Amino acid sequence: MSRRKGRQPGLYVQITAGFCLFALLSLVLLWVLQTVLLNPFYRAIKTGEAKRIADSIVKSIDSPELDSTAYDTCLRTGVNIFVTDPIGRRLVGYHQTFKESLVASMGRMERIAMFDKVNLLGGTYTETFQSRQEGAQLILLGTIAPTANGDPWLVLVESEITPVDATVDTLRVQLLCVTLVMLLLGTALAAFLARRIAGPLTAMSESAKRLGQGDYSIRFAPQGAREVSELAQTLNYAAGELSKVDQLRRELLANVSHDLRTPLTMIKGYAEVMRDLPGENTPENVQVIVDEAGRLTDLVNDLLDLSRLEAGAAGLALTRFDLTACICAILTRYDKLADYHFSFQFEGHITVEADELKISQVVYNLVNNAIHYAGEDKTITLRQSVEEGRVRISVTDTGEGIPADKLPDIWDRYYKVDKEHRRAQVGTGLGLSIVKNILELHGGAYGVESALGQGSTFWFELPAVLDEE
Ligand code: ADP
Repeated sequence: MSRRKGRQPGLYVQITAGFCLFALLSLVLLWVLQTVLLNPFYRAIKTGEAKRIADSIVKSIDSPELDSTAYDTCLRTGVNIFVTDPIGRRLVGYHQTFKESLVASMGRMERIAMFDKVNLLGGTYTETFQSRQEGAQLILLGTIAPTANGDPWLVLVESEITPVDATVDTLRVQLLCVTLVMLLLGTALAAFLARRIAGPLTAMSESAKRLGQGDYSIRFAPQGAREVSELAQTLNYAAGELSKVDQLRRELLANVSHDLRTPLTMIKGYAEVMRDLPGENTPENVQVIVDEAGRLTDLVNDLLDLSRLEAGAAGLALTRFDLTACICAILTRYDKLADYHFSFQFEGHITVEADELKISQVVYNLVNNAIHYAGEDKTITLRQSVEEGRVRISVTDTGEGIPADKLPDIWDRYYKVDKEHRRAQVGTGLGLSIVKNILELHGGAYGVESALGQGSTFWFELPAVLDEE
């Protein structure tokens, strides 16, 4: 690991190297284009221009405007334009008087010879001549143009190529300066960019190390590029979740050991009293031991259920059953709690396809919670409604309610709104977590609405089997 780390160049080096390479490649390309290829480029552009002019003259060969077209073009572009007939007469001839012209100095015989030469070559001809002006060249382009009166004419276009060596020299010096400036600027810019990207990443990597060592309070500063600051936000979220899990783990240890120890202490205490004081061996005292043992069993069962559900090991035994009847049966078991008033509002019996035992456990847990947290009137209302093919069961109490900011957390394992361990009222802290897991296994929706001091309504939904009513 450390060896690999040593071999891999850092972001800083990679970006700087990449930037310099790019700058160098661009400059090499510019050098080649500007100095080596400038002459051929210039020549090709000039030849192309002469060809276009010759074509336009050929096109207007029969037009009465031929003469003025040639004149205008010569003025505008600075090329020499001539038109002769097969017997060497000059029909059109414009050239820049201050520039050299080969054709202008030709005699009639030479023009006839030129006509025949172009004709022989198939109608088009291009040649480059050395100009008398030092270093300059002349391109001569000849084209035979058929005319309406039957005689073909010869269009000659002459264009001068001035030497670009001086320009190339200037460009070389300029490019040298540009190269130096580009390299310096490129390196500085690359260094700046690399620092901006690598800086926050290095800081984040340091923080991540501390997070790995268990410092969950660490926060990643969202700075630098968007992606980097998004990474920081994601890491912050992960750190938050980790610290939540860690907090829950601590609470679990505290809760479970407390929940185990309290009944055990009671059992041990009562058993010792009954052993040492014969008169204390009463059915009430035995009942305390039985109740406390029952509480222990409940806790252990809840823990087992939850770990099985969370591990995904608990398969669902799906059957079609009458959910309404199932809830009615559950409620009859609460009849002996004479203090509490239960009501179940429903219209018609609804069948669902689900795991009956597990759904019963959901209802039990919700009703038990409603009893634990019921209000003064000790009224618990269950409602059944059907909407868009789904049956919704809700359990409402009129108790203390749950603060809005605690609502998302109550489904977590071992979460208790009231951290002070009120054992008489509060259960294992696992009930809602079991409810959540069972409903998620069924793919059913669930939720809670609660207002502080007014009570809570817990609900869940399952798909109803409508054709089996
Ligand atoms: P517990 O065994 O502690 O009731 P649960 O998982 O069933 O555990 O519930 C988690 C927490 O949600 C409870 O400790 C309690 O603070 C809150 N809670 C659950 N049901 C109700 C309710 N009907 N009214 C008020 N608070 C409730």
